Amino acid sequence: MKKYYLETYGCQMNSAESNALEAILQGAGWVAASSQQEADLAIINTCSVRQSAENRIWGRLGSYNPIKKSRKITLVVTGCMADRLGEDIRKKAPQVDFVVPVNDKMRILDIVGKSSEDMCASDRYEFTTSYWKEGEFSSYVPIMNGCNNFCSYCIVPYVRGREVSRSPEQIISEIKALDEKGVREITLLGQNVNSYSYEGMDFPDLLTLICRNLGNIKWVRFESPHPKDFSDKLIEVIANEKAVAKHLHIPMQSGNSRILQLMNRRYTREKYLDLIERIKTRIPEITFAVDVMVGFPGETEEEFEDTLSAMTQAGYIEAYMYYWNPREGTRAVEMPGQISEKEKQERLQKLIDFQLDNAARIKSKRTGNIQDVLVLSVSRDNANQMLGKNEHNEMVAFTPKTELKPGSFAEVKFLYLNGNTYVGEQV
Ligand code: SF4
Repeated sequence: MKKYYLETYGCQMNSAESNALEAILQGAGWVAASSQQEADLAIINTCSVRQSAENRIWGRLGSYNPIKKSRKITLVVTGCMADRLGEDIRKKAPQVDFVVPVNDKMRILDIVGKSSEDMCASDRYEFTTSYWKEGEFSSYVPIMNGCNNFCSYCIVPYVRGREVSRSPEQIISEIKALDEKGVREITLLGQNVNSYSYEGMDFPDLLTLICRNLGNIKWVRFESPHPKDFSDKLIEVIANEKAVAKHLHIPMQSGNSRILQLMNRRYTREKYLDLIERIKTRIPEITFAVDVMVGFPGETEEEFEDTLSAMTQAGYIEAYMYYWNPREGTRAVEMPGQISEKEKQERLQKLIDFQLDNAARIKSKRTGNIQDVLVLSVSRDNANQMLGKNEHNEMVAFTPKTELKPGSFAEVKFLYLNGNTYVGEQV
């Protein structure tokens, strides 16, 4: 029996693509190996978004050297590092047999059957038909790939290429298949998800169409929208469609307009905060998540403080926070005013502490009500409790009153907050 070992790093799109790759491998008779030691084929699905991710993957490549020396194993590197550093990988890691670009990820089985000279990068990303992983109640549904925005710090447009949208027919047919497999929550994925465009259909139209075709799927989420493409039409669809989760992840990156301009984000602090206010006014129960970057070249202490004040004004229950890291090949690398590592770390720590306080304050006010919860598992800390999450992506450990299976929904009273998790009881 042929065995594969798949390592996945980075974003949700990579995870979704690894799920699809596993479905292809299993369809061809391969079975998952429990470790790299017993694999005939090892695939590393890489990430280039930060230097630390690449460093970790270089380390993982080294770990295949002794295995390669002792027996036959085919080692494949795919994902963003394959596009960004393909030549380097071939030179510095001769243990790698194939470097497969992002657009060819789903063709890995064809490629490993040939010699590496036969391989050439496809010029267009092709979506596959299934991104579902056995046993999952939540599933990603990629709807578009690539990005046209060229934020000055980001490598994605260089490695994933320009935006390509998937046809509504293919998306709907996949959603129906997910429903039949018992999936109860889907997340529509794209690097710039709300710039989806397919033969005249825009993202709000697609979202409406999806909501008509959900079957037993209860919640629809989407990741990650760009604030500049967040239209009033989209706000109306979110407000009117019950199935669209009332929790939005809207990256801000910086709360200072000068830094946003240097980042080439194409909105100002005022425009971003106005968008948040318009959404709050139209959908009072909404909650927000955010991406924030500190220590961008030239960011002054006052400009960093602007980010903190914007965070307070918007109010997020969830935040993905990081400091700027140079990515070779992006414009920000050449920018003046590079900030020391120490300063960047200090700002990030301040931001994290600040956000933890903010989130705890917002979340503690949201107790006492009854909410629908997707049951995920038995709690690891207490066998008498179940673990679930609500529409706002918040975890709750709750005492069940009836027998509940993972994948079902329960009405839960949210009693109080314990760290970042609510404690509740089924009603
Ligand atoms: S919108 Fe900006 S940050 Fe997001 S993928 Fe595109 S270039 Fe990168």
